Amino acid sequence: MAKRLEGKTILVTGASSGIGRSTAKEFARTAPKNLKIILAARRVDTLKEIAQEIKEEVGDGVKVLPAKLDVSNPEEVKNFVSSLPAEFQDIDILVNNAGLVKGVAQAPNIDPQDVDVMFSTNVTGLINMTQAILPIFKKRSEGGRGDIINIGSIAGREPYPGGSIYCATKAAVRSFTDALRKELIATRIRIIEIDPGQVETEFSVVRFYGDKSKADAVYAGCEPLTPDDIAEVIVFAAGRRENVVIADTLIFPSHQA
Ligand code: NDP
Repeated sequence: MAKRLEGKTILVTGASSGIGRSTAKEFARTAPKNLKIILAARRVDTLKEIAQEIKEEVGDGVKVLPAKLDVSNPEEVKNFVSSLPAEFQDIDILVNNAGLVKGVAQAPNIDPQDVDVMFSTNVTGLINMTQAILPIFKKRSEGGRGDIINIGSIAGREPYPGGSIYCATKAAVRSFTDALRKELIATRIRIIEIDPGQVETEFSVVRFYGDKSKADAVYAGCEPLTPDDIAEVIVFAAGRRENVVIADTLIFPSHQA
């Protein structure tokens, strides 16, 4: 698997925390030679720290570029690739991971600002990134080559009360991903979706607007997945032979079954 990933350029959105951070590290550990990784998120100082951690762990064989990006800002996304150093522009793998949940509220009480931020990040942001990267893939032989790995959620399949908007965003990711895969069927562009169940990250801290005690309570009495559990699956999917598409994977902790 490491050989197949060698030489690739990988863009991970939402790389400043949780699943994105672990995914960048897992790619670096798996293919520590001639790999280029772009770490994208809004907190660029955190990205710089992660880049340093990767360098300390795997050495200079992996080039890591921290890059400030708000996926919900169409102008930023449009100019993103051309603003990268030339050696990072030929992206092979996009991990569309940036996403969030805001609030727990029944439909009549949902804050419209929360609706906006969830849709503009989880749905429009993911579409923005896809549109920015696909032209790079399309220039390659056989109708195009490259991987888009979309991080959905169990919530896109099993909606729950109090989370209707987040669930709707992840159902939208699912429909978009399925349609895109069908549009690209005759190419070597692989469209992969990975849907996690409960994973302990900053996700719940964001959901409760920074209230750490409420976030911790979510995980009391259960054993959530770690971000590494998801990262390993992402890297496994990307490392398959080019003709093998791991299209759709649901991965959750046993208590959530
Ligand atoms: P974290 O909160 O730990 O990480 C979310 C990441 O998204 C951060 O790096 C954050 O970076 C980034 N992000 C948020 N908004 C934007 C934006 N507008 N532009 C760019 N980056 C952004 O959560 P997780 O790691 O858990 O979440 C990763 C993905 O996994 C999400 O899509 C989430 O929906 C999904 N998921 C998570 C589950 C869980 O239980 N944790 C379960 C199922 C799915 P920054 O703030 O620096 O921009």
